[in-house]
Amino acid sequence: MTRLHVHAERHRVSRIGWLRAAVLGANDGIVSTASLIVGMGAAAAAPGTVLLAGIAGLVAGAMSMAAGEYVSVSSQADTERADLAREHQELNESPESELDELTHIYIERGVDPPLARKVAQQMTAKDALVAHARDELGISDITTARPIQAALTSAATFSAGAALPLLMVILAPPAMLVPIVSGASLVFLALLGAVGARAGGANVGRATLRVTFWGALAMLVTAGIGTLVGTAV
Ligand SMILES: [Zn+2]
Repeated sequence: MTRLHVHAERHRVSRIGWLRAAVLGANDGIVSTASLIVGMGAAAAAPGTVLLAGIAGLVAGAMSMAAGEYVSVSSQADTERADLAREHQELNESPESELDELTHIYIERGVDPPLARKVAQQMTAKDALVAHARDELGISDITTARPIQAALTSAATFSAGAALPLLMVILAPPAMLVPIVSGASLVFLALLGAVGARAGGANVGRATLRVTFWGALAMLVTAGIGTLVGTAV
């Protein structure tokens, strides 16, 4: 039984690290709140109304991020726990076929059969469950994911990002609201994109361009819809 169980959707906090996850949350906060504000502004809503909508957007977005992250991390943890429990049972019930299974995994990766057998035996002797978790299930470190922590981190970073365009609503003169909020938000996005790329070891220029482009597109679309709805209502 060779289950090539690859965990395609590892949780992003554990995969790309703290800083990158924080950058992504802040990115979401900026894009969704700035788009909301620009859409309302384009629909010629009064500044007080725009601010209120922006604050509601921040709270709603933070809650939604927290709930989404909590559910995603919890189900990830459940899956890992269930996989490990099943593996543990299989190791108890049929240690021989589990040893064969591990041997085959190493053979498939290019190790000579006699050596693969030896590696499998030694790994099994040391800690069979850890060896199967890592090489069969793709669970590299058996640490339980923390749903509450992930939820709080997402909500906090989203709120921090959303606060930036909201601050611009307070600072900008009403007539200049849309250009100032969208311009400043694109600058924030570019800065965040650069920080995120730096942290992830990616190409800074390309990442910055990408994040700015999609942010600009999101604002353009909501501004367009805001203008349409604003003239219709
Ligand atoms: Zn196994």
